[in-house]
Formats: sequence, structure tokens, C-alpha cells
Amino acid sequence: MTRRAGYIAVVGRPNVGKSTLMNQIVGEKISIISRKPQTTRHRIHGIYTTENTQFVFVDTPGIHWQEVRHLNKQMNRAAINTMMDVDVVVWVVDAQRWTDDDERVLSCLKPVSCPVILFINKVDRIKDKAQLLPMIDALSKRYDFEAVVLGSALKNKYLDELLHEIEQRLPESEFIFPEDYLTDRSLRFLVAEIIREKLMHFLGDEMPYSTTVEIERFDESSPDRAEIHALILVERKGQKKAVIGEQGQRIKKIGMAARKDIERLLDSHVRLELWVKVKEGWADDERAIRSLGIDSER
Ligand code: GDP
Ligand code: MG
Repeated sequence: MTRRAGYIAVVGRPNVGKSTLMNQIVGEKISIISRKPQTTRHRIHGIYTTENTQFVFVDTPGIHWQEVRHLNKQMNRAAINTMMDVDVVVWVVDAQRWTDDDERVLSCLKPVSCPVILFINKVDRIKDKAQLLPMIDALSKRYDFEAVVLGSALKNKYLDELLHEIEQRLPESEFIFPEDYLTDRSLRFLVAEIIREKLMHFLGDEMPYSTTVEIERFDESSPDRAEIHALILVERKGQKKAVIGEQGQRIKKIGMAARKDIERLLDSHVRLELWVKVKEGWADDERAIRSLGIDSER
């Protein structure tokens, strides 16, 4: 049988269930789910490989709609670029709630030329599915979707149907990544996400939007404990100070809390080293984006 493989962008405003959907499909917790929107930030990708098809999911956390509105045109453009650069876009909306941010996503979809599938999520909350017909009708008039799928990421309902719709639109191709490629990457990503989550927890609103975490070393070869070195990249000196805190108190707390979670994840002792570095204008820096994303592998 012919093989298919391709890139899929899962887009949508915060809280519609993108991370939940990705986690269900990829079958591994690659991005932390949080009640707070926007925990994921870099282009995390999850890979789901079946016998004949490889789905490479590109999360587009570049789409931080609230912030885009104010200042971050660059990220907005990055999100659009991501959508132009994939084989299929899955637009996730919430069956229960339509907001201005959904409108904004829709307007960003306008220049996208690849197939767009509308996934109406959280239908488990809707008793009478016929209630959704006006929404489907209205949206279909505003955009020429390749397919519309109703489902529930949380309850794992109709995700097979979604995958089937995606699959048909992926190009015939050999697999892009080796089948075991992602496991290791996912763990790294997950570790980075845990650290990000702790940063957010201990910094709250002080956490700069542009903070990224890079795992520089991930060594599980010792039977006693894993050795992990992570780099926290911030944009300005003041932000570095905020992360480190008075006499390093804050970074210490962040490190301790992160280590606990990572130990649970890896089921092993962990030595975690955190470094904070100012990476001025990183968002412009192709290299930084590459090291976090998938561009270099394409
Ligand atoms: P994201 O911001 O788009 O990545 O959204 P998340 O995946 O973090 O989900 C946001 C919230 O919606 C979480 O509390 C999820 O548990 C919830 N959620 C996601 N999918 C569903 C669904 O199909 N049904 C219901 N009832 N809740 C969902
Ligand atoms: Mg998310």
C-alpha cells in the first residue's frame, strides 16, 4: 500500500482543546494541559504513525491571539507562515463558545491555501447535536472547509473520523521521521514544558511571554539518576533577575518543583541544572526558532 506522510497544524484560540486533542492522538502527554491558556509556546510537534501513514502535528502556539492583538504582529505572521507551510490545517473550535478570538483565527485562515478541516470540539457537552447545525451552516458559508468533524477530544470521540479526513489529504510520501524518533524528543519537550509550567507558577504575570526553555543535555545513561541541563532564555536582563530572584531563591524553587515532577515522569532520580540566559531579540533569530521547532528537519 502507498504510504502517506505530512504536516498538520492544529490551530484555534486558547482553551478550545488543542492540547487535549494532540495528546489523545499522539498518545503521549507532550504538552502540559493547563486551565491557564497558552502553556505551550514553541512549535511542539507530536507524531502519530500508523502502518501506512505518518501524521506530524505542528502545534502553532505562535498563535497567542490576545497578545497578538496588541503588539506581537511577528508571532501572528509566524502562525500564518506555519499554516501556509503544512499539508493540512485543523481548526479547532468550541461547540459551546464562540468568541472574538475565533473570529481572528478565521481571518488568519483566509490566506491559507492548504486544506482546512473544521473540528468542532467539546460536543460531549451538547445534548442535542442538531443545535450545532446553525453554527456549522454559518461557518461553512464563511469558509470553504474540506471537511467538518464534530467530536470530543476529552472523551476521545470521533477522533478516528478526524484522522481519516486528515489522512486522505496527506501527500503520498515515505515517512518523514523514523518511527522511534519522537519518543525521546517528546520526553525532552515534556521536561521543557514542566520547567515552563514551574516558571509560570512561580513568576505568574511576571513571566515574560517570550520565555523559552531549551534542554541542552538529557542523559539517562546512568542507572542512578538522569542528568538534565536546561537553558531558560529570556529577552532582557531584568527578566533574568526576575527568574533568578533574590539570592537565587526563585530559581531554586523553580528547580526543585520541576525536578520533583520530572522525577515522577522519568521514574528516576534526576539532577537538574537550570541556566538563565538573555537572548536578545531571539524571536528574530532563525537559529533559536529552529532549535525549538522543526524547520531544520523539513
Ligand atoms: P488549548 O488551549 O486549545 O490547548 O486547550 P486545552 O487542550 O488545554 O483544553 C482546555 C480545556 O478544555 C481543558 O480544561 C480541557 O480539559 C477541556 N477540553 C478539551 N477538550 C474537551 C472536550 O472534548 N470536552 C470537554 N468537555 N472539555 C474539553
Ligand atoms: Mg494548549
